[in-house]
Amino acid sequence: MPKTVCIVCGKEKAGHPVQEDPVLSTIRAAKERLGRATGNSLVVCEDDVEAARGKRARFEKYLMWYGLLAAAMFFLVLYSSRSLASILAGALAAAFLLALSLVNYYPKAELPEKRGEESGKAAGTKA
Ligand SMILES: [Zn+2]
Repeated sequence: MPKTVCIVCGKEKAGHPVQEDPVLSTIRAAKERLGRATGNSLVVCEDDVEAARGKRARFEKYLMWYGLLAAAMFFLVLYSSRSLASILAGALAAAFLLALSLVNYYPKAELPEKRGEESGKAAGTKA
């Protein structure tokens, strides 16, 4: 059985599985190429659920803002430039902005619902 390792504390622990995404599979493929794949499955342990939730929320916020900025910049270049070269430069700059948001990358885990949310929802439907 493969080991499960928590992505927050780095300890070998059971926990909530991390969802596979393009960034994670790229990292895994790169590690396999370098012969440094560990074969561990990534999880978030019970103690670190809140920490992982906060970090993921932060990354999603960054991704959204950088995405908006990149799109705005690309369209600005598209409308103001006359040459193919400057449009390409705009696309490159937009791609660079998106890559910058990955500095804060954090994988998404299948975390349980926030505590207290359940009761709030039930009260909401009653009203
Ligand atoms: Zn942990």
